[in-house]
Amino acid sequence: MNRFRFSFALGFLFSIFLVVSSSLNAAAPQVKIRVAQYEKPIDFIMPKGGAWFSGTRKGVIQAGKTYRITGKIAEKAVKRFHLMVGSAAADKTEDLQEIENRFSARKTHRFYVGNPPADGMPDNRSVFIGVGIFNDIKEARKLQDQLSAENISSWVFNENIKPARGSLTLTQGGKSILVSNTAIELLARDHVVLKKVEHARGYSWHGFQDRNYAGRVFISWGVDDVIDCVEQLDLEKLIVGIVPSEISAKAMPAALQAQAVAARGEMLSKKGVRHLNEGYDFCSEQHCQVYKGLQTVDKYISENISCTRGLIMKNKEGKILDAVYGANCGGHSAANHMIWTSNPNPHLQGVSDIKTGKIPDLTDEVQVRKHILEPQPCWCAEPGVEGADKFRWQKTLTKEEWKKFEETAAVGKIREIGSFQREISGRIVGLKITGSASEKTVLKELPIRRIFGGLRSSCFIADWQKDKDGNIVGASFSGAGWGHGVGMCQTGAQSMAKAGRDFKTILLHYFPGVNLIRLY
Ligand SMILES: [Zn+2]
Ligand SMILES: [Zn+2]
Repeated sequence: MNRFRFSFALGFLFSIFLVVSSSLNAAAPQVKIRVAQYEKPIDFIMPKGGAWFSGTRKGVIQAGKTYRITGKIAEKAVKRFHLMVGSAAADKTEDLQEIENRFSARKTHRFYVGNPPADGMPDNRSVFIGVGIFNDIKEARKLQDQLSAENISSWVFNENIKPARGSLTLTQGGKSILVSNTAIELLARDHVVLKKVEHARGYSWHGFQDRNYAGRVFISWGVDDVIDCVEQLDLEKLIVGIVPSEISAKAMPAALQAQAVAARGEMLSKKGVRHLNEGYDFCSEQHCQVYKGLQTVDKYISENISCTRGLIMKNKEGKILDAVYGANCGGHSAANHMIWTSNPNPHLQGVSDIKTGKIPDLTDEVQVRKHILEPQPCWCAEPGVEGADKFRWQKTLTKEEWKKFEETAAVGKIREIGSFQREISGRIVGLKITGSASEKTVLKELPIRRIFGGLRSSCFIADWQKDKDGNIVGASFSGAGWGHGVGMCQTGAQSMAKAGRDFKTILLHYFPGVNLIRLY
């Protein structure tokens, strides 16, 4: 009897073990990331060789030889442009109705984003509410300016109707191997080296770099009328590659783990939504997630984050949280709906990063000035942590930068810049520029940073230089933080990890009220 019980119990335990281990080993989703775009021919090498595929044709790629793909466009991509004023989850009919009611004076339309989810995966679908569809982006921008003047924020959404069409020619040593009108897939035994990958276009650190990719790489004409290179790989492998690009690879394990969970959630919540109809889920740039392909630190990162495999954060309603993050919050993180045109998310309403002391009211001009100039001790100001130097910053606009600002503002001689609207982190989300000819309202954090030539954050105070007639002719800024400030402060997360906090504590500090769930 005892023996029977024992073996029964053992068998029972064993079957539990099987269930647990099979759920732990469930496959991670496959994702597609656009890793490069080329206007010129693409040169590539497979150090250990491999193969190419295109339609029903295929061939061998020899180890170590340089191959080239040259493209010829036949037909440009087709797009149209929507001016959007709000969004909500597809099943939140009352939220959608509320947005439509606010714009009842205009003709609104609903635009469904995303595909039905695969089994067990979260439903990411959302609906954008638009107030106009245009074939010319300039028309959409014109209406956007009109709405801004009425203090209504909006964004231009590019709808991709059709990608560009064209041919691709594969050559080696000047000899033609293949001419194709469909995509070419590259499958390397080990990895493929794409030569001169352009990255960070539009940023000061813009450049070209040879990059290595171990996944399947698809090459085709894309929606931007250039050749796209898209890598398809397991999401967990992509996260290993993303973590060191997003946070210092030298960070303590808890910070790497918090970053891995946040990145996984952000990607799963944006999959199928961000780059709708573009042939991939994400790009490898700041717009989605910075990803540089295979890196030397990958082994160290994967060992440290493996315990977070499949972990994501869910909100109270059981939906996956878009776990956003930024370099340095400046002492207080920001409220999502004030920074972007989105509905308030209860888990993204901003938290204080002050270690000890009273939390100031940063919507108040006097208190925000004190916060910027004489800050209290904050997690993201700890010396010795990467990013702490981004806690406070100074910037004086050059003559050229000021001239550019005046041209963009286009209100004549600048008389006054004010009517600041600040959100909970002190970031300015609305301001008015009054000129001799007219006035202009600038809404939202990013447009405000951009109009002054690209400030690190919109949490700033300014000294305006005036001429003898009282016109503003220059500006010096003192500011706090780097980035939008919503969600996890990556500098603060590193300090907390250094102080011995685990990744769950860090995540719950920046995303209060969430549930940590293992998806696979
Ligand atoms: Zn992107
Ligand atoms: Zn912070």
